Amino acid sequence: MDFNIVLLPGDGIGPEVVGQAVRVLTAAAQAEGANLNFNEQLIGGCSIDKFGTALTDETLAACQAADAVLLGAVGGPKWDDPQAKVRPEQGLLGLRKGMAVFANLRPVRVHPDLISASPLKPERLAGVDMIVVRELTGGLYFGQPKGREVVDGIERAVDTLVYNEEEIRRVVRMAFKLAEQRRKKVTSVDKANVLESSRLWRKVTAEVAAEFPEIELENMLVDTAAMRLVASPANLDVLVTENMFGDILTDEASVLTGSMGMLPSASLGADGAGLFEPIHGSAPDIAGKGIANPLGTILSTALLLRYSLKLPKAAARIEQAVDQAISDGLRTVDLGGKLTSQQMTDEVIARLGS
Ligand code: ATP
Ligand code: MG
Repeated sequence: MDFNIVLLPGDGIGPEVVGQAVRVLTAAAQAEGANLNFNEQLIGGCSIDKFGTALTDETLAACQAADAVLLGAVGGPKWDDPQAKVRPEQGLLGLRKGMAVFANLRPVRVHPDLISASPLKPERLAGVDMIVVRELTGGLYFGQPKGREVVDGIERAVDTLVYNEEEIRRVVRMAFKLAEQRRKKVTSVDKANVLESSRLWRKVTAEVAAEFPEIELENMLVDTAAMRLVASPANLDVLVTENMFGDILTDEASVLTGSMGMLPSASLGADGAGLFEPIHGSAPDIAGKGIANPLGTILSTALLLRYSLKLPKAAARIEQAVDQAISDGLRTVDLGGKLTSQQMTDEVIARLGS
């Protein structure tokens, strides 16, 4: 089995964590008899510096042709001017659109030994194991019309929240499919008491639920969901929602764990390559020091193996090795330890099993 993987290390700590994660990915794939070919490309600030654009057509084409894409992080103070015409984040948006990855998955799980790092009370975190599915290519961030105008001396701005039923159906269906492998419950989050787009969301979600009679559907208003995430997170399993609500709720969910550096994400489409990246940013404050926590990126490679390469055993190998390393007390600096990125990665590789 041969697979082609595009690596987009990006900026800041991106190259450090991707470099380490690739060692784990290669070892885990090899253990399952798979051979990976890597093709490294630029994205974000480093691409702006070299090509004047955050994502070249060649890089996008390579990603579209690949079996999967592993990304580090983009951006940093060097490219922070909000007035600038070319910005690192444009590379990410272009990549998501270009790869047609309409669903962003963020598993949120807390290792029992890391519960003390969370801002929540320990008893609230016991048993937290959820996956948030965020619609990624529609809604308010992309809807037209969008813009600013001055009417009679008064400036106004407009954004449009638009979804069609197919855009809703495909992402909700993905959530129900995930629920089949889990605790058989989907919580769909909307604002159906005020938004027309949410009323369509609810209607289509009910239709999808009818295709999955063994899965329980719970509809929840987004304000309630924001509360539940901190008040009783262990009751949530698969949570699915539109783009902006998901943007906000995924960040809220990620701080439950108290460790940004540990959380992975996957962005998936109907078929074709998935895009895998840690949820943290480029962390300019620690870039170049070799101390970034590589586990979020390492766990992203587990998602890559599971969802794009369909190698669930290799994925489980990585997840178990990471769990074991944490159980054995191994910690990078962000978790109060002393290990460098490379040392932490060596420890994970040593626990991959044969
Ligand atoms: P972005 O705008 O790119 O999302 P951000 O402002 O959300 O960035 P991050 O770059 O994610 O911020 O960093 C936030 C804080 O978390 C920083 O202090 C950073 O050093 C720390 N951090 C982020 N990722 C890691 C990691 N993998 N290991 C250790 N610390 C990290
Ligand atoms: Mg951020």
